[in-house]
Amino acid sequence: MHSRYDLHSHSLCSDGTLTPTELVERAGAAGIHMLALTDHDATDGLAEARAAAARTGIGLVAGVEISVTWGGPTVHIVGLNIDPDNLALQQGLAGLREFRNWRAEEIDRRLAKHRITGALAGARRYAKGAIVSRTHFARFLVERGYVRGMSQAFRQFLSRGQAGYVPGRWATLEHAVAWIRAAGGQAVIAHPARYRLSSGKLKRLFDEFRSVGGEAIEVISGSHDPQTNAHLARLAGEFDFLGSLGSDYHGPEPVSGQDRPWAELGRLPPLPDECTPVWRSWPAQAA
Ligand code: AMP
Ligand code: MN
Ligand code: MN
Ligand code: MN
Repeated sequence: MHSRYDLHSHSLCSDGTLTPTELVERAGAAGIHMLALTDHDATDGLAEARAAAARTGIGLVAGVEISVTWGGPTVHIVGLNIDPDNLALQQGLAGLREFRNWRAEEIDRRLAKHRITGALAGARRYAKGAIVSRTHFARFLVERGYVRGMSQAFRQFLSRGQAGYVPGRWATLEHAVAWIRAAGGQAVIAHPARYRLSSGKLKRLFDEFRSVGGEAIEVISGSHDPQTNAHLARLAGEFDFLGSLGSDYHGPEPVSGQDRPWAELGRLPPLPDECTPVWRSWPAQAA
C-alpha cells in the first residue's frame, strides 16, 4: 500500500525537469490524489499546476520550499497551503532569488578560476528562465564531461568546501516560518535526515523550529530509508509535530548512466499510524 499523498515535488519552475502540467498528470497516473508542488524559493508554477489538477481530478496543494541558513548549514522549510499572492511571502522569496542570482554569478567566477568557463550560461540553458540552482550547474558539469554524474558534480565541485561552493545567505528559520504563516500556510521541515546533523543538533533545530511556529516535519521522504522514517516518526511524537510525507520528486530521467533516477511518484509508504498527519485539519477531499 502506497500513500495517496505526496506533499513535496518540483517542476521546471525550479530544478525539476517536468512542466507543472506534466508533473500533475504523472502524479495522477501514479495514483496520487493530493499533490503539493513545492518549488525552491518560487511559486510561479502553482497556477498552471492548479489548472492541470482540476483537469486531472486530483487535489493540488499550493506549496513552496524555502532555503534557510541555520547557523552554517542550509536547511529547507516547506510551506503547505500557502496563499501565493501574500505580499510578505513574495517579498521574502524575491530576496532569496536575488541572493540566488548573485550566487550563480559567484559560482561561475569560482569555477572559472578552475578553468571551467561558460558555467553560468550552461546552467541557465537548463534553468530555462526559472531560478538557477546548483542542480543546473551540475547538469552543465556532466554535459561537459567534467564529471560522470550528478552526485560526482556535487561531491567534487558544488558541496561545502569544494571549488564552486558559495556559502548560503538564505532566510533565517524565523523569517521563513513567518512568511509561510503570514501566507496562511503550515511550515514543515523538509527531509530532516538529509542535513546530516548530529542528533543533538537535530533536536535543537526541532526546538527552535517549534518555538518560531513550525508545525510539522517530513517523517517520510523519498530520500530517507525505512529506519530513518521510523526514527523520525518517533521524534515527531516526542516534539509534538504533525507528520508530512513527500517524494521530493524532480523528474523521471537520470542525467547520466551514473545517476539513479529520482524515486518514482506514488511509491511512498503511508504515514505511520502513530503520526498525526499534517492534513488532519484540511477540508475533507478525495484522498
Ligand atoms: P540549491 O538550492 O541551488 O543550492 O540546490 C540544491 C538542490 O541540489 C537540491 O534541492 C537538490 O535538488 C540538489 N542536490 C543537492 N545535493 C545533491 C546531490 N548530491 N545529487 C543530486 N542533486 C543534489
Ligand atoms: Mn532541488
Ligand atoms: Mn530540499
Ligand atoms: Mn525539494
